[in-house]
Amino acid sequence: MNIHEYQAKRLLKTYGLPVSEGVMVESVFDAEAQAKIFNKPLMVVKAQIHAGGRGKAGGVVLCKSVEEVKAAAEKILHKPLITHQTGPQGQIVRRLYIEDGANIDQEFYLSFVLDRAHGCMTIISSREGGTEIEEVAKKSPEKITKTLIYPATGIMGYHVRHVAKTYGLNDKDQIKKLGEILTKLYQVLLDKDADLIEINPFVLTTEGNLHLLDAKISFEGNALFKHPDIEALRDEKEEDALETLAREQDLNYIKLDGNIGCMVNGAGLAMATMDLIKLCGAEPANFLDVGGTASQEKVETAFKIILSDKDVKGILVNIFGGIMKCDIIAHGIIAAAKSLHVHVPLVVRLQGTNSPEGQKILRDSGLNIKAIDSLDEASEEIVKQVQAV
Ligand code: GDP
Ligand code: MN
Repeated sequence: MNIHEYQAKRLLKTYGLPVSEGVMVESVFDAEAQAKIFNKPLMVVKAQIHAGGRGKAGGVVLCKSVEEVKAAAEKILHKPLITHQTGPQGQIVRRLYIEDGANIDQEFYLSFVLDRAHGCMTIISSREGGTEIEEVAKKSPEKITKTLIYPATGIMGYHVRHVAKTYGLNDKDQIKKLGEILTKLYQVLLDKDADLIEINPFVLTTEGNLHLLDAKISFEGNALFKHPDIEALRDEKEEDALETLAREQDLNYIKLDGNIGCMVNGAGLAMATMDLIKLCGAEPANFLDVGGTASQEKVETAFKIILSDKDVKGILVNIFGGIMKCDIIAHGIIAAAKSLHVHVPLVVRLQGTNSPEGQKILRDSGLNIKAIDSLDEASEEIVKQVQAV
């Protein structure tokens, strides 16, 4: 789960990390009023959306007066901001963060990411910050340093010196400060089960202070039950509406670009189903795992989610009946197909306990459902039907 920059900075501030002072506003009126109270020689108006690249897209404006803040707010607020991360339709800006502007001497890149291959956190640092790290990685990968953190030791002196070297920092006090910052950021990751903290840019101010000018934090969704304070920061307006519905019903759903909707129980089976669709020359419209207990209600919600995606031209249901028997699932599918008026081709593959009964129920339903017991054939069939439309 992602949060907004201003929320991330509030969290980081509670750990004593150096972030700018700022206020979040949701209207032009408040932007002007707060800027008057704030009254700094340099104020930075920043669009709050769950996407980066705002600077280049006009979503970060340096202002020298209250009037400039007001003008910037009028220009940005309640309008879509299109960055390289939002897609062409952009993301509506509903909140602004007005910050005390920092005087930048150097912009660095700093992030902590979970390195799954090594099973530990990794610090990624580069002397070239402010710009997209992907660009730096492409053009000059030698400018990026990775520092693995052994979980049993946490941040050690040599990690700090490694990162300091990347930044070209020699001043003893600055290196000590860097050590404190890295240690605290690592603590945030551990305490809150975050899997990413990205500070870009991480700056050295003209006054010689290290400062966190931007902050992106991403949290492990499966650990959120332990962190109600973090869950409370969720902004559903920034999230995909269908993914929200799925989360509420405890379904694992991810929208994809293809046109064949998939309803499957079990993540492994879902992956295999998607692979087969691709093998047959089509693309899956989604990943959808209804979980071990594919109840009628869950099946119905799953159909609802799949059908509200207008790209879907056909649905492949692939369910393995274990604890939940195939005949019961078949009734669930029929009920859902009837109540939701499924209008696209529907191919169902049921395997497991009571699968012959389940398939018979589907065949006798009088609905346009094709029951096939082999997964290969079922995939071929749905692809054939969709491509024939
Ligand atoms: P992003 O483009 O969405 O990643 O937004 P950032 O928060 O990284 O801001 C983009 C750029 O705006 C930064 O790289 C800085 O160059 C500039 N910027 C942001 N805050 C300040 C500030 O307080 N002072 C100055 N001088 N520039 C800033
Ligand atoms: Mn940034």
